[in-house]
Amino acid sequence: MIELSGLRRYVTDRDTARLEADIKFIDMKEACPAETMWVEIDANYGGLLVDDTYDPFMLVALYLAMYNHTDLKIRGNVSKKLYKNLTWYAQKILCDFSSDLVPVKIFVDGFAPTNVTGTLIGTGISCGVDSLSTVYDRFVCEDDPDYRLNALFFFNCGSNGRGTHDFIPIIAQSRCQRAIALATELNLPLVPIDTNLHQFYREEYKDNFLFLSIYACVLALQNAIRRYYISSACSYGQIKANGISFENHDLASFCESFFVPLIQTERTELIIDGCQYTRVEKTAKLADWDIAQKYLNVCNVYSEDSHNCGGCVKCLRTLLALEILGKLDTFANIFDIERYRSQMMNYKIYTVMKADEDVFAKELFDLAKKHNFPLPTRRDCYTLGRQVVIVGDNFEMFADFNHA
Ligand SMILES: [Zn+2]
Repeated sequence: MIELSGLRRYVTDRDTARLEADIKFIDMKEACPAETMWVEIDANYGGLLVDDTYDPFMLVALYLAMYNHTDLKIRGNVSKKLYKNLTWYAQKILCDFSSDLVPVKIFVDGFAPTNVTGTLIGTGISCGVDSLSTVYDRFVCEDDPDYRLNALFFFNCGSNGRGTHDFIPIIAQSRCQRAIALATELNLPLVPIDTNLHQFYREEYKDNFLFLSIYACVLALQNAIRRYYISSACSYGQIKANGISFENHDLASFCESFFVPLIQTERTELIIDGCQYTRVEKTAKLADWDIAQKYLNVCNVYSEDSHNCGGCVKCLRTLLALEILGKLDTFANIFDIERYRSQMMNYKIYTVMKADEDVFAKELFDLAKKHNFPLPTRRDCYTLGRQVVIVGDNFEMFADFNHA
């Protein structure tokens, strides 16, 4: 059995406020990866943290219990709504996601208060296409105070790197500073949040706990957050396609459109935002926004200042969309455009060749068609560097985009 107990909120000697619970693996072969689960924010924001419910720690603990085929015992209260949703519905989705998981029982002492106290309408800001799309729609274009963003959050829960590498806090700091600068320009408060929940991940698990950790951090702030937008990674159509041809996708790509609405409490509503768009539709929407032209950050190559390298798959994907839209020069200040130009032919060939099997390549292919933008044709012959390549017969050599 996995047991959660000892919920407490306290101020650390580093001037942070921490919500923490003990976790124990009882009579299990596997050792527990850590003794506690915690969520932490600046001590000035300590009052935002709940201290009357184990909701924030229930999600990752439930996944661990389902993987280890053992029940989950919580020595305290949880949201009745979340408890019912996880017991009746969410476990079935998780079992469909991974055949390693089985349904388990959740034992709790009782249920948490239901009175709504939060006034914040929030979202997380990574400065990627997805989060900027949510900020544009739900802040710039929204005027209903019940739904308009009034706070931004920055999570350090796995997306800045894993393990104990020295560079992780440097990258996290750089990305956080960018988010703060953006929030300052929009005159919105930004709350950075740290957690160790993603560190419970092991390679055998299919999910990396990145998204479960984000949902958990939001639930840790349900005293303060009334409504929270989770920026989607995929469109409704992509999630539908991923479910049919599922293979090694993350949990969000598999089910976020119908999983997130189950992550609710009486006090805090999570809304999945952005599934109504494809990635290129989001990029097109942001292309003329001055804030996006200054702060968009999509790169997945780690560097100290977390700049956009122009040559990784995420930079290439974004820049090709911008080139097709005629907006490449508008983003020249925040991307290494020269590097892009040196690699773009490879990526364009890759896009054409993968259009039938990769959803993002298909989007770019369709966008090019719509704008009459010339892409290579499949049977053409190209000279790349000193190599002559017949596309189609030697396709695999383009797979890492580094051959030009
Ligand atoms: Zn990059």
